[in-house]
Amino acid sequence: MAKLYFKFGTMGSSKTASALMCKFNYEERGFRVLLIKSCIDKRDEQNGEIVVKSRIGLWSKCYTFSCEQNLFEFVKDKGYLNSRDVVIVDEAQFLTKEQVEQLKEVSEFVPVLCYGLLTNFKTELFEGSKRLVEIADSLHEIKSVCRCGKKANVNARLIDGKISVDGDEILLGGNSSYEAVCFSCYEKLLKEVKKN
Ligand SMILES: [Zn+2]
Repeated sequence: MAKLYFKFGTMGSSKTASALMCKFNYEERGFRVLLIKSCIDKRDEQNGEIVVKSRIGLWSKCYTFSCEQNLFEFVKDKGYLNSRDVVIVDEAQFLTKEQVEQLKEVSEFVPVLCYGLLTNFKTELFEGSKRLVEIADSLHEIKSVCRCGKKANVNARLIDGKISVDGDEILLGGNSSYEAVCFSCYEKLLKEVKKN
């Protein structure tokens, strides 16, 4: 039986590059890959088409889905429930709890590989990531390094260069950016902001 995989990492841990390399690998071996992501993530467009794009330059066209869409029906409609089909989800933290459960159903037929963040900028689990940790058959951490050299596990939100712990969970673009840091560097950054 196929499996539901969750491969998680911080911002900048090359999750998207890993997802694209995985797609390439499957295709090289004659599998058909359905690459999808939530329409919440609209950052990467190329000639009006939504793409999955990694910072090291790899990219691929993808399909997007809304929060209301049933992903079992979505994958079925696209015709990807046959043997030698694979589903890859980028930015899986934006899945709803129900969508993760629908992907679990999909994984009864074909492998489903989800790539995404584990926690938000407040160090709390995203809804989709929480459900994935609960019901995925396989969990794998894609590791990355903090500015101090330790393992990074917090996605700090910086606004005009200063750490911020307020605001909505999803905030793309603008004057905000993210840096993956370890927990002690995160605490240090918080203290610096409180001092000022
Ligand atoms: Zn650190």
